[in-house]
Amino acid sequence: MIRTGQAGYPEGTRSPAEGIRLVHQAGLNALELQFVRNVLYNPEKAVEARRTARDMDVLLSVHAPYYVNLNSVSVATREKSEEWVLRAMRGAEAYGAWIVVVHAAVYGDNGVEATTSRVISSLKRIRRKADDESLPSVIGLETMGRRAAWGTLAEISTVVGQLEGVLPVLDFAHLQARGPEALSTERLEKIFQEVSAVERLHCHISGIEYTDAGERRHLRLGEGLDHRMVLRSLWNSGLEATVICESTSPQEDAQLMRAFLDGTVEENLTNRLK
Ligand SMILES: [Zn+2]
Repeated sequence: MIRTGQAGYPEGTRSPAEGIRLVHQAGLNALELQFVRNVLYNPEKAVEARRTARDMDVLLSVHAPYYVNLNSVSVATREKSEEWVLRAMRGAEAYGAWIVVVHAAVYGDNGVEATTSRVISSLKRIRRKADDESLPSVIGLETMGRRAAWGTLAEISTVVGQLEGVLPVLDFAHLQARGPEALSTERLEKIFQEVSAVERLHCHISGIEYTDAGERRHLRLGEGLDHRMVLRSLWNSGLEATVICESTSPQEDAQLMRAFLDGTVEENLTNRLK
């Protein structure tokens, strides 16, 4: 099953539980909580939201703060970054969110290998502390759109292969922006093969504006990326997946994705019956 959902609560949401109800009423079944600037929540409201999400079958995920850089030259910043991820994991546990999406690092003056090994050491420390605190959420490493950012699928796969409790998160707009070539059905097939061992693949999608340096900004669905091609390839891969819409109109565009996917399913079933 492919779940579809939005990044952030719907407009006009007055409480986390209400936000989840609105997502459900919009015909969606996933929501990504945006702890991108801070990890603040009311524990009682989180418990209520957790219950509502379970009752309404809305799968929750968390986006960790943007300040994380596990490859900073400053030891203090690396420690602070590890603490940000842990705080997001505590938030995820409060809400019952299964995965915490992280922008892991930028290269700075380091090469790929040195950056990757710093990311691995940091994630090991984070996992150890998370286990001590009984925080079960998975750490999701997002494929990054700017060339200055660590996080190609190859780099992420190296890390995922060495650590428990860490999974790749595919951001299709970022994969498109970073290249080396635009997304095509062939490239998507290879990508889905590479992540085929993942039980539930967590994904982000949006429209995208980009330059030679990679990602510039997110746009409405359909701008700069053929989301239909992406969704069709994902559906054809047979993977269990969640696609979170991070476009500039996340709910409306997530509903468009839902309608397209439901149409694709019907189309395929009809073809099979013929
Ligand atoms: Zn992200």
